[in-house]
Amino acid sequence: MRALIAGNWKMNGLRAAAAGIAAPLRAPAETLGCDLLVCPPATLVAAVARALAGSRVAVGAQDCDAAPCGAHTGDISAAMLRDTGAVWVILGHSERRADHGETDALVRAKAETAIAAGLTAIVCVGETEAERLACRETAVVGAQLAGSLPDGFAGVIAYEPIWAIGTGRIPTEADIAAMHGFIRAELVARFGEAGRGLRILYGGSVKPGNAAALLHLPDVGGALVGGASLRAEDFLAIARCARG
Ligand code: PEP
Repeated sequence: MRALIAGNWKMNGLRAAAAGIAAPLRAPAETLGCDLLVCPPATLVAAVARALAGSRVAVGAQDCDAAPCGAHTGDISAAMLRDTGAVWVILGHSERRADHGETDALVRAKAETAIAAGLTAIVCVGETEAERLACRETAVVGAQLAGSLPDGFAGVIAYEPIWAIGTGRIPTEADIAAMHGFIRAELVARFGEAGRGLRILYGGSVKPGNAAALLHLPDVGGALVGGASLRAEDFLAIARCARG
């Protein structure tokens, strides 16, 4: 399974970012042994897709609405994102779950709509620090997987412990391996053999300096990278650590 290194720019980037962050990925991506994906804010999806057209770097969005179209002022549909050049979409990121009250049921509905529009979904799960300290991390992540993934899911799961996002703190390698093993078992229990082929990304303070160790842990099929994806050289340094 080729690793996937996905960049989540979050609410960062003006038009210059298409040339400044995305375009420098084009040439190096040709020789990487992993898949590369960048997820700029919705306002930049079209510009980044143009900057990366014909390259090996895919483009995704960070969210979509659960409804396919209609009276939802200010929202953006999966079909609109597909139309602007996105082929992937991140769903259920902890910042959306926290800032917008997104529930597992809503994330599942968004995933169904995204898949119907031709997008591949990256569904995010992860526990808070309080939940981990209470030894509830597998219960929390198990419930998120059960509630957020549609039947027949063929996308990607991103395990992102909330307390590791943007903090510079990461779980121990043993804890990451244990959680990815747990997620794999849940996927196989629900989807059978197909669950063995789904990529499970780790996300949370992945940097050039820690990527090699994280990306070689069992069942870690890549990384979802926030802050470090905003510098092309750091993002590429992480990608060079991935297994092919
Ligand atoms: C993220 O928000 O998905 C993320 C992993 O952020 P960071 O890499 O900055 O911790």
